[in-house]
Amino acid sequence: MPKGMVYLVGAGPGNPELLTVRAKELIETAEVLVYDYLVHPAFTHLLSTSCEQICVGKRKGFHSKKQEEIQAILIAKANEGKRVVRLKGGDPFLFGRGGEEAMALASAGIEFEVIPGITAAMGASAFSGIPLTNRNTNATLVFVTGHEDPEKLDTTVDWESLPKKNSTICIYMGVANLDRIAERLRSGGFLEETPVVCVEWATMGHQRICRGKLGTISETAKAFDLKAPAIIIVGETAAMSEDLSWFEKKPLQGRKLVVTRSQGQASELSSMLEKLGAEVIGLPLITISGNVDKQTAADVFGEIASYDWLVFSSPNGVRYFFEAFFEKFEDIRSLGFLRIAAVGKSTAKEIKKFYVTTDLVPPEANAESLAEALVATDSLDSAKVLVVAGNLGRDVLIDKLEEARAIVDRFEVYKTEQTDLSENPAAKMFREQGADGILFTSSSGVRSFVDQAKHLQLSASALRPKTISIGPITSATMKQIGLPVDLEAKEASLDSLVDSVVRRFGK
Ligand code: SAH
Repeated sequence: MPKGMVYLVGAGPGNPELLTVRAKELIETAEVLVYDYLVHPAFTHLLSTSCEQICVGKRKGFHSKKQEEIQAILIAKANEGKRVVRLKGGDPFLFGRGGEEAMALASAGIEFEVIPGITAAMGASAFSGIPLTNRNTNATLVFVTGHEDPEKLDTTVDWESLPKKNSTICIYMGVANLDRIAERLRSGGFLEETPVVCVEWATMGHQRICRGKLGTISETAKAFDLKAPAIIIVGETAAMSEDLSWFEKKPLQGRKLVVTRSQGQASELSSMLEKLGAEVIGLPLITISGNVDKQTAADVFGEIASYDWLVFSSPNGVRYFFEAFFEKFEDIRSLGFLRIAAVGKSTAKEIKKFYVTTDLVPPEANAESLAEALVATDSLDSAKVLVVAGNLGRDVLIDKLEEARAIVDRFEVYKTEQTDLSENPAAKMFREQGADGILFTSSSGVRSFVDQAKHLQLSASALRPKTISIGPITSATMKQIGLPVDLEAKEASLDSLVDSVVRRFGK
């Protein structure tokens, strides 16, 4: 049995785009992922489908796993020979008990690596426009914890003697004790007027900033209903946030939006919304996986050069077709001289990734339109057509092609299944928090959402989302199933959808 390895990886402050390159690479190749609650659910789309996920979520109120148990899990999994990623919020060696975990691994003789992450204070500083140091006013920087380990009896932070002159104090885990902390800082000599900024959910779309002064911050924070996780920054530069807070200006900042997608796929829509400042929950309603029958593949590839048309009805079809193709052939020229059709632009774009040009894309992205366009080429009579499909594809296309006297082979390369959402972190986040809106971009997305409804029941305090549709076909499905359509995009395109969302929800 080869010895396993543990990677103590910093996930950054929350915004999934702030992962390091190394962290992303390790998450993508992990065999076991052990994570806690501050880690954003979006990382799951990076995981391989076979990765075992263990949530050891430490959250105030319920410690789901004791520190010793977490360490025991890491050691046991490594001893099974696994590649274990221990993903921790922010930086693993800053207030995250990463040191204890590394010590436990070292004494168990387990090999490990530590990958730093952007710590919450730095994320809060950047995303609220507070330079942590400043040439003339702030020369000392302190990272301090406001929440002592409840298992420890004495308090080790000497608040009264923190540096007062030209300093910036960043307080982690300080929300619950804010009154006492502010008081002790004042009695240590910090001035009442010292600017204080609390950044809740820093770097995330739903980040909120509470601004005040040391003398009154506990009332200000109460009125603001400040909640953990937050970083509290005390010092002269905190006042600069008024002028430098660039993130708050994004039109969708503070909005939480849900997009539906398939497991393992990043979504173009999510990234468009995130760039506008929104917090996006990507609900992975379905799981798509390769599903090629060996015998069929041997038959198809054995006579690949004899086909006249190769027809793709989805980007997934393209991906899994070429995966199987390159397992058998080394050279794209083995495709022969066939012509290639794609149901729409995104499918053609996927084909292009293999340096192959698509000969035909119908005016509308659906099976009927694709069939019509193929028939219109007048090349189908006795032609051999290979239709690449998933397990759910409709037969309209094949029927129409056969009517035009084509000889059609259907090649199934992938299958679509419902994702198990009971333990899925994104689904959990949706159940607990809800959202401002949920965006539907296809009828199948609507259907899978309704199919999965039992795993998506909102808690009493969650925000009830508005339902938003990309266009008339999706809206029709929503109405038919009984979902209201609160907003529909002007034109059925992602750009128009995002535009409508900004008009309705934007600042
Ligand atoms: N290792 C982490 C800190 C874990 S301690 C790091 O380097 O960032 C947990 C505390 O971190 C929270 O109580 C809060 O003070 C802070 N924190 C973590 N994520 C945060 C976020 N997105 N916004 C604000 N504070 C955050």
